[in-house]
Amino acid sequence: MIVTRFAPSPTGYLHVGGARTALFNWLLARKTGGKFILRIEDTDIKRNTPTATQQVIDDLKWLGIDWDEGPEVDGPNGPYFQSQRLETYKKYIQQLLDAGMAYYCFDTPEELTAMRDKAAKEKRNFSYPRPEKFPTMEDVEQAKAEGRPVVVRFCMPDEDIVISDVIRGEVRFAPADMSDFIIQKSDGYPTYHFAVVVDDELMEVTHVMRGQEHLMNTPYHQALQKELGFRTPTYAHMSVTVSEGGGKLSKRERPKALRTAIKSKQDVDLEELAAAGGITVEELESFLKKKTTPDMPAINSMADALGVHLPEINVVDFFNSGYLPETLVNFLGLLGWSPGDDREIMPVSEQIECFDIKRLTKSNSLFDRKKLQSFNTEHIRMIDKDRLLEHFRAFLQAQDSPLLKASDEVLKRVLHATEGSRTLAEIEKKSKFIVLPNDEIEYDPKSVKKVLLKKDGLRMLGLVRERMAGLEEVTAENIETALRSLAEEQEVGLGKVAQPLRVALCGTTVSLPIFDSVDLLGMDNTLERIDLTLE
Ligand code: GLU
Repeated sequence: MIVTRFAPSPTGYLHVGGARTALFNWLLARKTGGKFILRIEDTDIKRNTPTATQQVIDDLKWLGIDWDEGPEVDGPNGPYFQSQRLETYKKYIQQLLDAGMAYYCFDTPEELTAMRDKAAKEKRNFSYPRPEKFPTMEDVEQAKAEGRPVVVRFCMPDEDIVISDVIRGEVRFAPADMSDFIIQKSDGYPTYHFAVVVDDELMEVTHVMRGQEHLMNTPYHQALQKELGFRTPTYAHMSVTVSEGGGKLSKRERPKALRTAIKSKQDVDLEELAAAGGITVEELESFLKKKTTPDMPAINSMADALGVHLPEINVVDFFNSGYLPETLVNFLGLLGWSPGDDREIMPVSEQIECFDIKRLTKSNSLFDRKKLQSFNTEHIRMIDKDRLLEHFRAFLQAQDSPLLKASDEVLKRVLHATEGSRTLAEIEKKSKFIVLPNDEIEYDPKSVKKVLLKKDGLRMLGLVRERMAGLEEVTAENIETALRSLAEEQEVGLGKVAQPLRVALCGTTVSLPIFDSVDLLGMDNTLERIDLTLE
């Protein structure tokens, strides 16, 4: 049976690159009727927090990536948090110490830096100098008493290590490129290299798909596997996804985009902006000078306050921008993988069906945001309407949108009327005017100037009012007939009568189709908003 795993180190929200790794491992397990494990690699006690773990779990659930073993799902190979498996790692570390294949060291950070500097000066790779005689337990006690950090290093073999990668074929590493490395840190925790090897063995993982940045870690893992008598899983190191700017898709893109936006705007009130982000003006100034970066919630709130859109990086950003999980899963599944033909839009069931690890691609892939938007339009169109409503409600909830007040029936009509929209955020924006109190509509000055104040916008609006008030029965069809005949009588296009009405009802020129707008708003509100505008 094929067993795959996703092994995040929880340091914050799930990055879209991590989501892609999880997805490929999940697809392989689902395709083959195998098992997918979620393992939390939380051995960096300074950086890993329970909140971050929960965020990762929530993000995976939102994407629809479920696991057969892991947190919240018991299994025969638990616990699934590395921080709860310390005894297991200690046992294997002891085994290596006893076999003379690992040894204690006590170097201070300053001593290590000096060794590295020396190697750099001599223009050679740093390689930890293995002592001829390994320290004894007495030496360890003495080092501890002196307050030195005590770590354990593994003896790397003095031979080439060849790894076999599904995507890259055979990759050879020479001894000069590798060095005795730490397997147990001074806090007693295992390092990533060690824990990952032990767990992949004990959890019977057969296939490891992970980011290309881990390729250089694999010879270390393979050396440990050989020494401990473990199997070597099949490895596939996936190509890199690059952002449109050319670089890595990094978390720094969001703060960077915000900084650029603030600088490009003329009259930003820094005090107000800092307050919106919950930071001090000094902190904001230091951010603008590229000295420090506030945390993500502060960045997000400031972007909201300024009305600027930041590039989405974490899974939760895509949720907040109104993408469907179905879209993201489809899109991520095509980054560094191809079905072998030109199929693109696919439901997840089809992705599972055609998944084949051999079709992972070697070349880097571009994170094309325009394409992502067009995928979202398609998935909004394709998805089951009840499910779409669920997604829309979850989105509105997170935004604390006034539209939450609307009934399911109204929201379904809204969704129907806005087909072709790119995101749920766009749908919300186009339709929230229907639930706002009449005197809380914000009029966009540009729209007012362009549509109402120019030519005879206001006169048209007066005529529209007469027609609307005269309707016997208010239905979307009657509204349409009335507006069309008015346009004909006035010898103008429909837009000339519809746009003034639109601005009067929702404050801007972008909204639901106008007939639906009047119908959903109701005639009383429609007339009142026209009157408020004509005043
Ligand atoms: N915890 C590692 C990471 O988040 C896992 C890498 C691996 O899959 O081996 O990068």
